[in-house]
Amino acid sequence: MICKNLEIIMERIEKAAIKSGRAKDDIVLVAVSKTFPAEKIVEAYNCGQRVFGENRVQEALKKIEGLRDKFEDIEFHMIGHLQTNKVRYLKNNFSLIHSVDRIELAELINKYAKKNGLTQDILIQVNIAEEPQKSGVLLKDYDRLVEFVLNCDNLKLKGLMMIPPLVDDAEVNRPFFAKMNELFLKTNDRYNIQMDYLSMGMSDDFEIAIEEGANMVRIGSAIFGKRS
Ligand SMILES: *Cc1c(COP(=O)(O)O)cnc(C)c1O
Repeated sequence: MICKNLEIIMERIEKAAIKSGRAKDDIVLVAVSKTFPAEKIVEAYNCGQRVFGENRVQEALKKIEGLRDKFEDIEFHMIGHLQTNKVRYLKNNFSLIHSVDRIELAELINKYAKKNGLTQDILIQVNIAEEPQKSGVLLKDYDRLVEFVLNCDNLKLKGLMMIPPLVDDAEVNRPFFAKMNELFLKTNDRYNIQMDYLSMGMSDDFEIAIEEGANMVRIGSAIFGKRS
């Protein structure tokens, strides 16, 4: 079932990529395995999937511990909101952290990365729809955060991430995806950098996100099934 789902997703990714003048290989698929047991990750791995997304540090570490020795090319991304008291557990477990959204958090990840002798790849999560109570940096604080991260020796800014508002019709969010892409390009320009990833698009809206410029999509339920 997981193999079949992955196959279908890859075909849909390819179609959306072509529609926006790119190829399937330009898009990174993060299979969001949160709440699913390690066996499901192994199943997806055996169908060729290598990158997995988790949203809770403790839950992720339990799974990673058992998998990393067996599958040396498996990769985990932290995609969920990060509390500062969890940062010390990150170590080298996550090849990419999608959810850096405040200076205090960036500062702490940098500090622990330095202590552990590593450089942590991160994305800045943007609250592009300016929704109250939602994670992600607001546009008014965005440049300050970018500048802070660029000055952290042990952080590498790899791109931007967003979670769109919850809606019934994904088309409604298309302008937010487009706005993120604009911000991505403008940031590269302004700071003279070349960020690699624009992480947006989930099970219900990844084609629209890709059409609007995403090159990293985070897909859970369409691969692993409904979460209980
Ligand atoms: C759960 C989650 C996803 C995947 O959502 P699906 O709708 O299951 O594809 C993507 N991104 C983040 C940040 C998530 O927490």
